[in-house]
Amino acid sequence: MSDCIFCKIANHEIESNYVYEDDLVTAFRDMNPQAPTHVLVVPKAHYANIVDGVPAQTLAAMAHAVDEVAKKEGIRESGFRVVANTGDDAGQTVHHLHWHVIGGARLTDGMA
Ligand code: 5GP
Ligand code: ZN
Repeated sequence: MSDCIFCKIANHEIESNYVYEDDLVTAFRDMNPQAPTHVLVVPKAHYANIVDGVPAQTLAAMAHAVDEVAKKEGIRESGFRVVANTGDDAGQTVHHLHWHVIGGARLTDGMA
């Protein structure tokens, strides 16, 4: 999608602070971090959100990327949160599927 910021970052049309990359996925640091580790895992292809017909292979690649990010950030054992804001009630602001990987500190107990 030509006017999508995450399409541009995921495909290096705009450079960002990358943490992990493979054929299907990139992971880069959120520009407004909510915790010591706050990384966005993003497919290179454009899907609006998690309910936009995302292929199983892409979802598996995203899960693998979460594992790689957690290892690189040193939070795999201490724990972390994965969040996929989806639609208006969740406050999704960028309409290109992304998973927030948040950790590196004790997170709030609340989920909503
Ligand atoms: P959402 O609310 O859609 O789940 O979260 C979008 C996230 O993307 C926000 O946490 C915001 O800080 C981050 N973000 C938006 N634009 C950019 C950008 O251009 N670069 C980076 N690195 N993060 C961005
Ligand atoms: Zn996009």
